[in-house]
Amino acid sequence: MSSNSTSLPDYSLAPEQVPLVGSLTLDDGERERLKSRIADTLQSRGMALVAHYYVDGDIQDLAEQTGGCVSDSLEMARFGRDHQASNLVVAGVRFMGETAKILSPEKRVFMPTLEAECSLDLGCPPDAFAQFTAEHPDRTVVVYANTSARVKALADWVVTSSCALDIVSSLKARGEKILWAPDKHLGAYIQKQTQADMLLWSGACVVHEEFKSKALDDLRKVYPDAGVLVHPESPASVIQGADVVGSTKAIVDAAQRMPNDTFIVATDRGIFHKLRQQNPGKTFIEAPTAGDGATCRSCAHCPWMAMNELRALDRVLHDDAYMASCEILVDPELGLRAKQPLDRMLAFQAG
Ligand code: SF4
Repeated sequence: MSSNSTSLPDYSLAPEQVPLVGSLTLDDGERERLKSRIADTLQSRGMALVAHYYVDGDIQDLAEQTGGCVSDSLEMARFGRDHQASNLVVAGVRFMGETAKILSPEKRVFMPTLEAECSLDLGCPPDAFAQFTAEHPDRTVVVYANTSARVKALADWVVTSSCALDIVSSLKARGEKILWAPDKHLGAYIQKQTQADMLLWSGACVVHEEFKSKALDDLRKVYPDAGVLVHPESPASVIQGADVVGSTKAIVDAAQRMPNDTFIVATDRGIFHKLRQQNPGKTFIEAPTAGDGATCRSCAHCPWMAMNELRALDRVLHDDAYMASCEILVDPELGLRAKQPLDRMLAFQAG
């Protein structure tokens, strides 16, 4: 079995394609005023707020307080599909809003901003990907959820980091050869675990790619009893040093389950809100992004997730013109094609 490297160009983003993380400081009075107004509006309009673990902690709290959900992208997709609300507000990045719309075309889906992209999505241009799949018609096309509707429409399966291992294992057991996109690190991890024959696209997450193995080893010496929890979008050398490798949901579960008092965590720092909330007696330390090759962008926080801030959420709910500009629209015929591999994933998980 082999992990085939491709002659594809490297689709990692150049630094100038990545926005800087914005820093918004609101005074406590303003924060509370916005939170209260947002909660009232969500409830009076019967809208469900579906938030990712990486967004602002206040938005995570609002989602839970108003009957929405905070989770990883797999659970967000399921929750949005199954919730009775006819209007969803998705706080995350654009592919998450698109996924919600594809699964529930009859619902209206809004986001605090449509500028919240993802480097994996941007690093998988649909035309180039269509050509890649056409060159390998013998392979089952498996794409990560972090892709556009057009890329999903070219796939046989969509997976998230929660279910990728199980789905690829089952495809391998059926003798299928796989074309994987877009995250090269997650693809290499899955290939190593399953020994499946996988041809890998060459995209990367700008956040997880910054974690550094040497600096992580040094930190472990300072905290020898710490559990190390790593998201599989990280480089292989960082994954190698982990006690648990898994999706954001798997990381949240491991922190509750494991007896350690201290954890070093290699994923977006937005997750620390939930980790600290659920484990008040435990200490959580960010895995290092400093060290060789570090840049001013090595801050363990996704610049696009950071665009989901309270003022943007408030504006999308109270400014009609802005709200109209933040609605997710997916061509119905394209949506139908993209829905098939998503439905396959959700049925696999349910079975
Ligand atoms: S953290 Fe990485 S994978 Fe997640 S949305 Fe940001 S760029 Fe995409």
